[in-house]
Amino acid sequence: MTDPPIDLAAEAFENYKRFVNPPLARVMKLSGSPVEVRARGCTIWDQNGKAYLDFAGGYGVFTLGHSHPRVLAAVRAQMELMSLSGKTMFNVVLGRAARRLAEISPGDLQISFWCNSGTEAIEGAIKLARAATGRAKIVSTIDAFHGKTMGALSISGRETFQTPFRPLLEGFAHVAYADTAGLGDALSDAAAFVVEPVQGEGGVNVPPVGYLRAVREACDRTGALFIADEVQTGLGRCGYRFACDREGIVPDVMTLAKGLSGGVIPVGAFIARPDVWNRGFGKAPLLHTSTFGGNELACAAALAAMDVLEEDGLIENARIRGEQLLAGARDLAAQFPAVIREARGLGLVVGVELTNEGYGGWIIPEMLKAGVTAAWTLNLQRVIRMEPPLIVTAEEVDRALAALREGVTTAYEKLGVL
Ligand code: PLP
Repeated sequence: MTDPPIDLAAEAFENYKRFVNPPLARVMKLSGSPVEVRARGCTIWDQNGKAYLDFAGGYGVFTLGHSHPRVLAAVRAQMELMSLSGKTMFNVVLGRAARRLAEISPGDLQISFWCNSGTEAIEGAIKLARAATGRAKIVSTIDAFHGKTMGALSISGRETFQTPFRPLLEGFAHVAYADTAGLGDALSDAAAFVVEPVQGEGGVNVPPVGYLRAVREACDRTGALFIADEVQTGLGRCGYRFACDREGIVPDVMTLAKGLSGGVIPVGAFIARPDVWNRGFGKAPLLHTSTFGGNELACAAALAAMDVLEEDGLIENARIRGEQLLAGARDLAAQFPAVIREARGLGLVVGVELTNEGYGGWIIPEMLKAGVTAAWTLNLQRVIRMEPPLIVTAEEVDRALAALREGVTTAYEKLGVL
């Protein structure tokens, strides 16, 4: 007698409901979320073998696509030698990854600390700024997203995520994004200005060229450090190696995570100019530490991922395919102004702002039925973001746009229901 087939969807829902996240379980069930089973390149397969183009892309993690073979090979080889650091000896892979990151980073950004996530990179950057300047205040932007640990949450910009956890940390202030009027005053006594070169979770907000240069100047005038949060925009996502490169700007500190290991091993890092680093962390070697940070597996993955990004021309592909995706989304916006307010983006992060937050509840499940994943942005839920791997092809972009059209048509047909 053979065992009955396992119903993975039912099992996952029950486990999520009882052991993982009950409200999330209900939301995912309502939106018809399947179970992810296997992934390669731009495609995820579900429990029934159905293929989905991954345009949510783990919120920007899968720069090289899922399970890039060169990164997997590097990780497998490293795993045979040593997976995690013993911590008491030199770790040659960390040294190489840090050196490679310095080589590809803007200007004189040089010394890096390696951790495990974006929010952890932000926490370290904030600590570095306070220690280096002797000042406490950290300024960031309204609608920003920098993570959900207490420091990062304090400089992020969505009340819903902050309210249950007040009081947040002291000494944080928010200014309008892409607006430099009054920035100098806000920064006069600040340790740092933390800013995303393109606001991702705030709704894919692309500032005008000149904004980052003006930020650089304001920081230089006031002595505040310029921390560029490139956790989502960095490593090719925006059609530049780093989104700061769009203006040729060198920040004092840059934070990274998501695409740094090409989507194979969790990793984060922040990299600083040597004088900033030395002023902040230079005197005591263990001021800032992380047990798992800089482990051999993550660093081997990052080294391979940085090579693939450069050698396979993915930054250029992000720019070209990004233009195709944005042009298609703008065509749809022009055809359905009652549903789409605006489409905007830079490289392969494209946001489609809806006229009503509720329409996303029809569009995203409809896209899923058509075999394409997409997701809301965390701080502005009327924006659907599309962030496919940088290896995406013209034909895959066309398929995603066709799925978006199906979703938007459905929303249009239901207009007035809300
Ligand atoms: N910074 C930015 C710009 C982000 O987009 C995110 C996550 O979306 C973070 C920080 C936090 O990263 P993580 O979720 O890895 O903690």
